[in-house]
Amino acid sequence: MMLNSAHIRPKKSLGQHFLTDKNIANKIIEAAGITEGDIVVEIGPGNGILTALLAEKAKKVIAIEIDERLIENLKSSLARFSNVEIIQKDALKFTYQDLPYRFKVVANLPYYITTPIIFRLLEAKGMVISMTLMMQREVAERIVAGPGGKDYGVLSIAVQFYAEPKIDFIVPPTVFNPRPKVSSAVVSFNILKKVRVKTRDEEFFFKVVRAGFAQRRKTLRNTMKAANLGISADVLEEAFKRCEIEPTRRGETLSISEFAKLADQLLARV
Ligand code: SAM
Repeated sequence: MMLNSAHIRPKKSLGQHFLTDKNIANKIIEAAGITEGDIVVEIGPGNGILTALLAEKAKKVIAIEIDERLIENLKSSLARFSNVEIIQKDALKFTYQDLPYRFKVVANLPYYITTPIIFRLLEAKGMVISMTLMMQREVAERIVAGPGGKDYGVLSIAVQFYAEPKIDFIVPPTVFNPRPKVSSAVVSFNILKKVRVKTRDEEFFFKVVRAGFAQRRKTLRNTMKAANLGISADVLEEAFKRCEIEPTRRGETLSISEFAKLADQLLARV
């Protein structure tokens, strides 16, 4: 299969599934709520279907594309816009926090980098106003999941700790060329002004969260014991008691604030 304009073969390894439906592109821009004062970072502009719409609405668009074969074509098709900057770079290596202004992120993400790119953007959260990202539906469902189900896990907590994610709409495989095997979803992330729950030490909090989900079928007591947190069984039992968390529960039933309480209790004793 060729890309019409550039006669370039899509690379599977770069997650190249190009959007062919302008209505969907418009819906993504609408979900992102782009206005004329906005600076937008787009990851993976591809053929520029979203880039052109963004350029019409925003003050400035910075489009980061890894595939050098697409750059010339992008430059010529977007030449009429003076507010678009195209950067040929791996978006996973871009230092978002170094941009001199706060920005919104809009992307039809290459699926293979969905999770690492979200983590990288969350690291720059001070500079990010919001993110509107198309991704695999299954990952979107994990991101927005609450306690109690199979979708809820480290990814849900990592995102919800810093942001308020929401699935805007589902997108079928038929609107891409080439078609992916799975459905996609557009997710908006509002970055919270303060983290969702205050903890004494964020790094330790995430260690406890990871330990809580390390062996999903085990009770919290057993999975926490097995984790290498340097905590004795006595300290663990005492912390469960103080937090009023039943150690026979499974990690996937704990809310973010319960994990935070548990982490703080444990930290006080290690
Ligand atoms: N935005 C276009 C669209 O909606 O049709 C293209 C989306 S396509 C799913 C993903 C795009 O990301 C491709 O253009 C691909 O070359 C680019 N890409 C893949 N890996 C990348 C990376 N690590 N950094 C920057 N761009 C990347």
